[in-house]
Amino acid sequence: MKILQAINHYPAHIKQQVVQLIETDKLSHYLLTRYPVAHSISSERALYDYVQEYKKRYIKQSNPISKVSYDAKLQLVKHALGTHTYVSRVQGNKLKAKQEIRIATLFKQAPIGMLDMIVVHELAHLKEKNHNKSFYKLCCYMLPDYHQLELDTRLFLINQTLNGNLYE
Ligand SMILES: [Zn+2]
Repeated sequence: MKILQAINHYPAHIKQQVVQLIETDKLSHYLLTRYPVAHSISSERALYDYVQEYKKRYIKQSNPISKVSYDAKLQLVKHALGTHTYVSRVQGNKLKAKQEIRIATLFKQAPIGMLDMIVVHELAHLKEKNHNKSFYKLCCYMLPDYHQLELDTRLFLINQTLNGNLYE
């Protein structure tokens, strides 16, 4: 199944469970049971404040974030986990990097835990560009349930493709 690309790097027994959920048409049910409601952070102002709150609490020592937005163009599953753009501006002799965080619009109607996961993922990239051990350590420090939430977010995206938005 092409749709399983989003979870391709997971162990076989997990993929098997997902296939079963899809084949028995129980993926939405699984997600709704775990995440009965969507968050209400729908404005970009609220999203910006939400991200800043995380940043203040966990990673003070990093470049400031200039902009946080929902981006309707980020629809492909492979990009849907967000994107971090590094805009460098020459100011005097100093090269100052301004960070911008964009989150796919489809996460406007998503569980708060999944928004947390995306935010934490993007913030961790302020410190660590690659998806390596210290990157995931930082993610788990900010959000102890990070790995489960990342898997469920991938299932949420698969479900979105198969059945549309969970909360509509
Ligand atoms: Zn990443």
